[in-house]
Amino acid sequence: MATKNEKIGVLFASFEAMPFLKTGGLGDVAGSLPKALKKEGYDVRVVLPKVSCIPDKYKSKMKHIKDFYFPLSWRSVYCGIEEYTLKGITYYFIDNEYYFKRDGIYGYFDDGERMAYFSKAICEIIPYIPNFNCRILHCNDWHTALAPVFLRECYRNQPIYDRIRSIFTVHNIKFQGQMSDYVLGDILGLSQIPAANAQLHINHDTINFMKGALSYSDLISTVSPSYAQEIQNPFYGEHLERIFQRRWSSLWGILNGIDTEFFNPEKDKALAANYSADYISGKSACKKALQNEFCLEEDEDIPIIIMVGRLTQQKGLDLVACILDELLNERMQLIVLGTGDQEYEWMLKNAEYRHPDKMRVCLNFDEALSHRMYAGADMLLMPSLFEPCGLTQMISMRYGTLPIVRQTGGLRDSVSCYNEYTGEGTGFGFNNYNAHELLYTTKNAMALYHSHRDIWEALMHQAMTQDFSWDNAAKTYDDMYKEVLK
Ligand code: ADP
Repeated sequence: MATKNEKIGVLFASFEAMPFLKTGGLGDVAGSLPKALKKEGYDVRVVLPKVSCIPDKYKSKMKHIKDFYFPLSWRSVYCGIEEYTLKGITYYFIDNEYYFKRDGIYGYFDDGERMAYFSKAICEIIPYIPNFNCRILHCNDWHTALAPVFLRECYRNQPIYDRIRSIFTVHNIKFQGQMSDYVLGDILGLSQIPAANAQLHINHDTINFMKGALSYSDLISTVSPSYAQEIQNPFYGEHLERIFQRRWSSLWGILNGIDTEFFNPEKDKALAANYSADYISGKSACKKALQNEFCLEEDEDIPIIIMVGRLTQQKGLDLVACILDELLNERMQLIVLGTGDQEYEWMLKNAEYRHPDKMRVCLNFDEALSHRMYAGADMLLMPSLFEPCGLTQMISMRYGTLPIVRQTGGLRDSVSCYNEYTGEGTGFGFNNYNAHELLYTTKNAMALYHSHRDIWEALMHQAMTQDFSWDNAAKTYDDMYKEVLK
């Protein structure tokens, strides 16, 4: 008879997860993938840092289960474990006020030390997790990249650790955790270990946390099949392409899903009206409400284009800057929600000033507003330079808002481009990172919107009925987990 602790235990480590904290797609994925893996039969527990910005309603209900000290090079550091169970998933929050009691989440001078601490704490807590048969340590992005390194170098030959296999998932290769190499000895305490020296150094005086994870993990994955191919070439590989080439047989590309309960226009409480693919009329009410909210002309026939996301080079803001004025000559409205690099924030604010009747820019992180925008808009602009997966385009399709994307990474894998001969498609796409291609594609989309509303509505229906749930991805993760345990 199977008891709970005979199930394969997966410790899923991330620095952010919905609904506790989120700055981007990683938060969405870590919030929803564990639930899908649980349905596949795994005993999934999630480990997160107990950072200050987690809402009090969660913090006040956490249960303290253990505290102890462990060595981080010459330091002896405190580690508290707080437990919280939500919707069937148990979360373990690592408590250390020195590292995590800060106003923000990322961007501190000592992020290297904070992430090293977090990665080692992930390994340290494993024996204290009650009734847990830990077989897989699944780490995500550079914040947890040292956990597979510590697992092998610091805990080898201990039975509870030796049976654990590690998987590292790259959500964004742009952020790798590059540090001066004094960190290797002073913080990681690994400078005397030749293998760690070799695997973490990228040159004589710099180490790279992600390179460590890519070398030490038993399997590696990234968040779309196309991106798994792309990162093997120098344009996308961010200087790590050789490792991906070397480890291609251990590299999996699994397209993310979205939480279709949370992103559900039929039930979303943030919306002025609810709707579905078959009862679409509520979307017009959402559009009217959005125009009203932003004091834009209320006219159902004016297409609204939105952008939601980080305002960084990755998201194609350079292309947008080139075409903005020409685009805004068209009969359309543009609403941007995001935060990011100052140069892009200013560029957009400046354009808003020049086009007060057509453009609005909201430099905020606002979950509810993003839902109102996905629902009220007609198109989403996402001309990314690179895109490991991208969730924004999937969410917008779910809300019947057609994405205009550069066909790269996960955008290529999730958006099927409109084919005027067959009528197939769930959005619009262009290939080269070229402003005129973006402009041409966007103008074509708007022309279709104005002239063939019947085709447009068919595309909306196709977009809304795509299956972006985690079910498919979870099955492939299941295959990967089976492979790593072989
Ligand atoms: P990233 O590269 O940032 O992970 P994704 O497209 O994968 O991009 O995921 C972005 C997620 O963050 C989506 O859920 C999107 O709605 C959300 N998001 C990004 N910026 C904002 C913002 N300013 N306000 C609200 N939600 C945002």
